[in-house]
Amino acid sequence: MREHDMASWSDATICEHAFENNAEYFNAVAPPIIQTTLFTFPSHADYVRAAAFENDYHIYTRGLNPTTEILGKKMAALERGERAKAFSSGMGAISAVLSSLLQSGDHVLLVNNVYGPTAAYCRALAKFGIETDTVFADEAGQVEAALKGNTKIICYESPSTQMMHMLDVDQIAAIARKHGVLTMTDNTWATPLYQKPLTRGIDISVHSCTKYIGGHSDTVGGVVISSADIIDRVFTFGHQFHGACLGPMEAWLLIRGLRTLQARLALQQTATRAVVAMLEAHPKVRAVHHPFSFTGDQKRLAEKYLTGYTSLLSFELDTRDPALVSKVVDACRLFRIGVSWGGHESLILPQYNGKNLDQLRASHIPPELIRVYVGLESADDLVPDLEAALDGL
Ligand SMILES: *Cc1c(COP(=O)(O)O)cnc(C)c1O
Repeated sequence: MREHDMASWSDATICEHAFENNAEYFNAVAPPIIQTTLFTFPSHADYVRAAAFENDYHIYTRGLNPTTEILGKKMAALERGERAKAFSSGMGAISAVLSSLLQSGDHVLLVNNVYGPTAAYCRALAKFGIETDTVFADEAGQVEAALKGNTKIICYESPSTQMMHMLDVDQIAAIARKHGVLTMTDNTWATPLYQKPLTRGIDISVHSCTKYIGGHSDTVGGVVISSADIIDRVFTFGHQFHGACLGPMEAWLLIRGLRTLQARLALQQTATRAVVAMLEAHPKVRAVHHPFSFTGDQKRLAEKYLTGYTSLLSFELDTRDPALVSKVVDACRLFRIGVSWGGHESLILPQYNGKNLDQLRASHIPPELIRVYVGLESADDLVPDLEAALDGL
């Protein structure tokens, strides 16, 4: 495929064909896994020329690798970003962005609940003289009020981790521009198919490809998408120094995952609608956190910013005894107990562990909260499984 053909392609076609130059590899319909550590040169002069531009030439796989580049280019095209860089995990991507862009004396503002290790990493940066605060905000004005003179970057997820709280992304982008602050969002929940933050003026979008992009619970990976300038900085510092490079085999599995992303998400959206409807009607459930269940301003934001809804949600048991969360998850048969999500199998996991009430309260997470991931099984089996577990209370 020629790159100029792609300018008008829609997302599904990008997933299937973009940046795959089949004619270069026997017209095979799957790209080769270029499983090599290094690339050689016809002359020393050629090597010297390439070595001056490590992010443009194939020199060493902890730099550029042709298979990994296909994944990065597809993700950049899907997010409408200038460039992307793939990493060996989502945390590899997130820590590379933050370590590349921040320096001693800077301040990070986290908005609402972000992925736990992201928040923990930001707090750990205190040993390098970087401050972190979290603001729990319903409106962008509260985010603006929490900015400091040294705030360098605003990090958020919309919907947020655990509580699925949406932000007004346009307003966040406007505030950041006004104050000369960068913005980074973790778009793992929506995937590039259902939300494109860079088109809203957000500077940096990161993903854990371990979730929906891989889609089969068998590959760990991450990616960051941004302007060429920011990706070059992240490449030079966070990628080359910290070395969390994605292996060619993993990149190939993630390229394969992208091929079915649209189809999987559509099926999961339908099953999620059924699970949410059951939960909303169940007498043991106090609240459901998912766009299908939103009302008022949250519903307006979901309709404005998301073009589809994925299948991770949470709900609150209507009880004052948080220990009951264990009873519900233990009673499920199809929903399995485990971390992560985005694969074929449905999962369930409460946050409460018997001894973290203070921590949950500080994060504005009710202890009776249970997170649910709706996988690719039939809703005809999933809904009764969860319903029976709740009925048993
Ligand atoms: C899983 C996850 C990450 C971390 O990704 P890894 O690939 O596990 O390192 C980051 N953000 C979100 C929202 C996640 O769900």
